[in-house]
Amino acid sequence: MLETLSRIVQAVSTASDLDEAARIIVRRVKEAMGVNMCSVFLTDESAGQYVLMATDGLAPSAVGQVRLAQGEGLVGFVGEHQEPLNVPDAPVHPRFRFVPGVGEEGFRAFLGVPIIHRGQVMGVLIAQRTEATAFSENESSFLVTIAAQLAGVINHAAMDGSVGKLLEEGTREARFLPGIPGASGVVVGTIAVVFPQATLESVPNRPVTDVATESEAFRSAVARAQEELQSGGAQLSAKLPAEEQALFDAYVMLAGSESLVSNTVQRIEAGNWAPGALRDTIAEHAAVFEQMEDPYLRARAEDIRAIGRHILVRLQPDRHAARAYPHRCVLLGEEISVAEIAAVPAERLAGIVCTGGSALSHTAILARGLGVPAVMGLGELSVGPLDGREVAVDGYQGRVYIQPSASLRDEYRRLAAEETALNKGLEALRELPAETPDGARVALYINGGLLADIPAALEAGAEGVGLYRTEFAFMARESFPGEDELYRTYRKALILFAPRPVTMRTLDVGGDKPLPYFKVEEANPFLGWRGIRVTTDHPEILLTQFRAMLRANVGLGNLRILLPMVSKMEEVDRAAGLLDRAHRELLEEGWSSTKPLLGVMIETPASVYQIAALVRRVDFFSIGTNDLTQYLLVVDRNNALVAGLFDSLHPAVLRAIDQVVEEAHHWGKSVSVCGEMAGDPTAALMLLGMGVEGLSMSGPDLPRVKQVIRTFSQAHARQLVDQILLLEDANEVRVLLTDALDRAGLGGLVRAGQ
Ligand code: PEP
Ligand code: MG
Repeated sequence: MLETLSRIVQAVSTASDLDEAARIIVRRVKEAMGVNMCSVFLTDESAGQYVLMATDGLAPSAVGQVRLAQGEGLVGFVGEHQEPLNVPDAPVHPRFRFVPGVGEEGFRAFLGVPIIHRGQVMGVLIAQRTEATAFSENESSFLVTIAAQLAGVINHAAMDGSVGKLLEEGTREARFLPGIPGASGVVVGTIAVVFPQATLESVPNRPVTDVATESEAFRSAVARAQEELQSGGAQLSAKLPAEEQALFDAYVMLAGSESLVSNTVQRIEAGNWAPGALRDTIAEHAAVFEQMEDPYLRARAEDIRAIGRHILVRLQPDRHAARAYPHRCVLLGEEISVAEIAAVPAERLAGIVCTGGSALSHTAILARGLGVPAVMGLGELSVGPLDGREVAVDGYQGRVYIQPSASLRDEYRRLAAEETALNKGLEALRELPAETPDGARVALYINGGLLADIPAALEAGAEGVGLYRTEFAFMARESFPGEDELYRTYRKALILFAPRPVTMRTLDVGGDKPLPYFKVEEANPFLGWRGIRVTTDHPEILLTQFRAMLRANVGLGNLRILLPMVSKMEEVDRAAGLLDRAHRELLEEGWSSTKPLLGVMIETPASVYQIAALVRRVDFFSIGTNDLTQYLLVVDRNNALVAGLFDSLHPAVLRAIDQVVEEAHHWGKSVSVCGEMAGDPTAALMLLGMGVEGLSMSGPDLPRVKQVIRTFSQAHARQLVDQILLLEDANEVRVLLTDALDRAGLGGLVRAGQ
């Protein structure tokens, strides 16, 4: 059964559109189950109906014509109840509804299962037989399993279909691709697709300017791929069994096969660039193998794709350098790395859209730091065809409008202009202190990590850097940086802010921040080797970082050091021991090094409950609410599937923060918050009430938060906190805080426009 299932899913996933996917499903399922009819109905959300998308057994003319209201007939019954329906004799079922003229007569046994994707009923899959005998349990579980597996594939095809429609028609009505708000702001710009180096499917089409050079580049990429495969096979020849070696030879042959090369060159001559031409040739060849009955031959389709990826990688020796990015560039890709963002000239980067990820992914955090809107988690989508299209990005609502209509474009331009005006208005606050009307001061810092985000911070009037993410510089490189290079970067940052403090966090890699040159394979990276666990296991890396930081601090004295992901006291002791050692070494070498304040991030549940032990070891605390929320709520911060569950205003998170602040204050230590919630005006109001001494956020968020601090008295904010701590639901908390902002005339701080 597993084999049949995976063959059907594989066949459906190669479909070029939703219609074809539906046709393959009904044909393959009918054949596999030996039934007389199989049909698939899909939900038409706008009409509130199920529409027959494909059938093998009913009249073909019924496709697209038969429509059942939600709840109507047995199909509607299955959709409504969201569970399988297995009836031996459909016509006698009280909810049966006869549809004349489609050839339904004669079918008796009915098995229908809902097709559900992420909690949404996408449609209903049905199978029928002419005898009036109930389907067996095995048959029912087969159909349930196939529907569950196909839901994602159908969703993908449907998304691509709706993108296709948007491209054909333009956005006449205000149709959009929904995603997760990643960074606030709105922009109208041009899409530049970023595709992973070895993913053929997302390669866009691009016009070719010089056919001869492009064809030559392709031929030499093929030759390089062949050479490398050949030498790879030769190197392994001593270790590999003959059969595997033969595979290398077969790859070499396939890569240079006449049909693969000439078909691709023809496509280049027809006007597409080499990667796009290669993508189509590989898809065509793979499809031939996929249709084959023999399982061995069918599996060769994967080999063809592997060859395609090999050649693709060799076609792009330096992908970023050669690229011309459009003005007002909106990067679009599944995941977008620091290096890919850094490759776009800062004045051109206008927005970021990711099909994967979530609001707390580091890509979204970077977007916030750079002050560009971002939408995350659009879902599975072939991004290639969108390259070069105009787009409106709404980072507040998480919406992406492809080829917006003129009126929508104007509307978004107006909103963007209002945003700029609002920000301009807030500039007046730059020199004013972040002080409440009743005299409480909250230090407002910025989060940084790329030198590119420093100007925004300085402009915003930050009182220093509350979180300097040192890993970003490590991520944008191809090997570990040396002490002198780190020294130069850190020195620059410390000088720019002096005498204001710069809180440098030691390398926090792992989770969604892998280093390209230090790959670690883990089943659960967020529960794995992350942050301080990595650096205390690699004292040579941590010592280098400490030495560079301490050297950079000489004569300035504005450095603070922060340790990430602490869950055990031993980690703090080891890191503090290494810091002492770096300090001693530097003194011995003649540097006038001084010891900076040392702090710990409170971002694991374990650290929340060890404040009393931590106060004996460190000078200050900074609450990392991004990870603290992730670990308290058990929600992967990077996973679009559970993004709806990630909420830093969850009562459990709020109680943890309140408790940490209270306990730290009891021991006389200060507390800041450096997670993303610190930059959200609603949450900042609450954190003010809880009594935190500092808030650290993306530079562009700072003026709005300052406005909140200067408007609300701490006593008022504390009253709100007293009410909030009695609430049981994050949404109630949000409503209470937004109402308070609205009543104070600050509603515009959390919405698009003024
Ligand atoms: C956090 O976890 O809240 C935090 C500020 O660190 P990062 O987002 O870099 O993990
Ligand atoms: Mg963190």
